[in-house]
Amino acid sequence: MSTFDYSDFWNEAYRLLHEEFAAAQKEQEFILWFNIEYVSSVQGIITLSVPSAFIRDQLQRKNYITMIENKLFEVLGQPIKTNFIVKPVQIPQQNFFQNQNPPLQNQTQQSSYQQPVNNFSQAHNNVSTGFQHEQNDTQVIVKPKHPTLNEKYTFDKFVTGDNNAFAYNAAISVSNNPGKAYNPLLILGNVGLGKTHLMQAIGNAIYNNIGGKIIYITAENFTNEFIESINTKSQSKFKNKYRSADVLLIDDIHFLQNKEGTQDELFSTYEALYGANKQLVFTCDRPLSELKNLTDRLRSRFGRGLTVDLNLPDYETRCAILVKKLQEQNQTLPKDVIELIAKNIASNVRDLEACLTKVVAYIELTGQKATVESVQHLLRDSFNSSKKENISIETIQKVVAEAYGISWIDIKGKKRTKNIVLPRQLAMYIAKEMTEYSTTEIGSEFGGRDHTTVMHSIDKIKDAIKTDSSLDPYIQGLKRKIEEYQK
Ligand code: ADP
Ligand code: MG
Repeated sequence: MSTFDYSDFWNEAYRLLHEEFAAAQKEQEFILWFNIEYVSSVQGIITLSVPSAFIRDQLQRKNYITMIENKLFEVLGQPIKTNFIVKPVQIPQQNFFQNQNPPLQNQTQQSSYQQPVNNFSQAHNNVSTGFQHEQNDTQVIVKPKHPTLNEKYTFDKFVTGDNNAFAYNAAISVSNNPGKAYNPLLILGNVGLGKTHLMQAIGNAIYNNIGGKIIYITAENFTNEFIESINTKSQSKFKNKYRSADVLLIDDIHFLQNKEGTQDELFSTYEALYGANKQLVFTCDRPLSELKNLTDRLRSRFGRGLTVDLNLPDYETRCAILVKKLQEQNQTLPKDVIELIAKNIASNVRDLEACLTKVVAYIELTGQKATVESVQHLLRDSFNSSKKENISIETIQKVVAEAYGISWIDIKGKKRTKNIVLPRQLAMYIAKEMTEYSTTEIGSEFGGRDHTTVMHSIDKIKDAIKTDSSLDPYIQGLKRKIEEYQK
């Protein structure tokens, strides 16, 4: 087997592809999708790994696999097949340097992104004045905790599905190429869908692998600190702190609505950091267009890089999240109990976690096994409140009809003109997502159509979402309107 080592050919093919993308002004695309590593080779076949099944699908869909195989053919002079495996990103254990000072106060050695990890740790060993562990004559190097990042929030603890894979991949690209891949990265999503987790995973990955001054702060605390700096006449200290960041992560920027002074301050900070190619990441619970009282210049800056969405996880992803969270706590639950929870809690990941905590506490406190019956009883209130809050199909029809300037009668009626068909399909899709109604029940609310028509409509919209990146955010906006209308 070892006679067929294609790794050099792969490296060369990869380098050439990168050059071609760069020449075609598509380097970002390359950074996003060509997150590929060489694994092994046998005659005629090279095995490569990607960080998620989603990336593999996209490579296939975008014909990049063919492109890679063609390039390998070109380099090698003979045809070669690729075999892609999924290898989730492993974040290295963080033990490689010791530094007593919190990283925010010791920046002299670590401001460059380019610094390789080894040099980085050596530099720190040399200057280190802190405590030293001796163990077998080698230093055990303990990296201090980051002051504001939660170590729990890492990429390997983030479960991916269709609802978040694009955001996840973009976040990985950013943490591999801070300041270069996407700047800024804006992560959108409703409460409890993993915005903070993903943002901090970027921070943790850069902190552990690259280093630099990484600041994570909520927009609320940023605002408070800013006001405090005015009150204590320490504005320049405040400015210096944020303008010397290599990576600035600001969580929940919707909080900045109506806060004009803070917006201006953040705008200046943004300009300074962006101009110096420092990485910026923001999260927000709604699309920028729905933020009120935000200066135009700041709005445009937030959306200048890449915007990604976190959506509701589907049933399978919810099961996977529950399994992962159980593993992390060294707990197990019967499959039917996991499925029961995943089926009943569709609101967000935070609620899923809360239910799991309840069940685990119940097992620990009572020493009893969790069964479908006991868990059903234990979680009955959560299950009931999570039942999609009685949104009616009529509300959905009315909101969608209004958005498209057609009548309620038409959207549920028989007419098949183009301007009515799309909103109707969209309303059916949203009805399936937001209510517990079956496709048969939905069909009967749309002029007595049968369930296959409804399913067909839903598939149409799903396809359209894949090809039109503006559709999903638009649908999220409609859903918010529907929720508000219902209140
Ligand atoms: P948000 O900031 O969007 O409100 P969080 O990032 O605080 O949401 O997520 C809420 C909880 O759900 C956190 O404990 C987080 O770890 C967990 N969570 C969210 N999405 C995922 C995911 N895809 N995989 C694993 N855990 C997740
Ligand atoms: Mg959050």
